[in-house]
Amino acid sequence: MNTIRRCIACGCAFQPRPQVPSQRFCSAAECQRERRRRWQRQHLRSDADYRDNQARAQAKWRARHPDYWRQYRATHPAYRERNCAMQRERNARRSSSPVANMDASPPLHPLASGFYILRRAVETGIAKMNACTVHIAVLSTPNGSPIRDCKEMT
Ligand SMILES: [Zn+2]
Repeated sequence: MNTIRRCIACGCAFQPRPQVPSQRFCSAAECQRERRRRWQRQHLRSDADYRDNQARAQAKWRARHPDYWRQYRATHPAYRERNCAMQRERNARRSSSPVANMDASPPLHPLASGFYILRRAVETGIAKMNACTVHIAVLSTPNGSPIRDCKEMT
């Protein structure tokens, strides 16, 4: 029999192998890779055992190649930058984010002028250990009224 089908990956016409009457991908290497990719994606979604086995195999591989990802990140700056940006987004969405949230804060007294310890928390959402001492001079309170004793306001 000469059944001709269209490959669902490349769209080319092909003849299914007699051993695989329901064949949907042609035998081109790229189309077979696509077939395996779709199979794996489908099983990662639907098969908990498969997912666990994959996770264990990947953990073993990482243990055998401890420097692989460090070197990959060092030699692929665009990949690294994209990951950093996505992590920043996740940190910003996380409810326990250390970034100050106006709605979650208890009612504030106006910030008083004085010396404060400042830590950078912007890049990763995780406070860096390095801290500096800064002096903050309050120019106005949250309700907008200027501080009368501020020397710059006179
Ligand atoms: Zn194909």
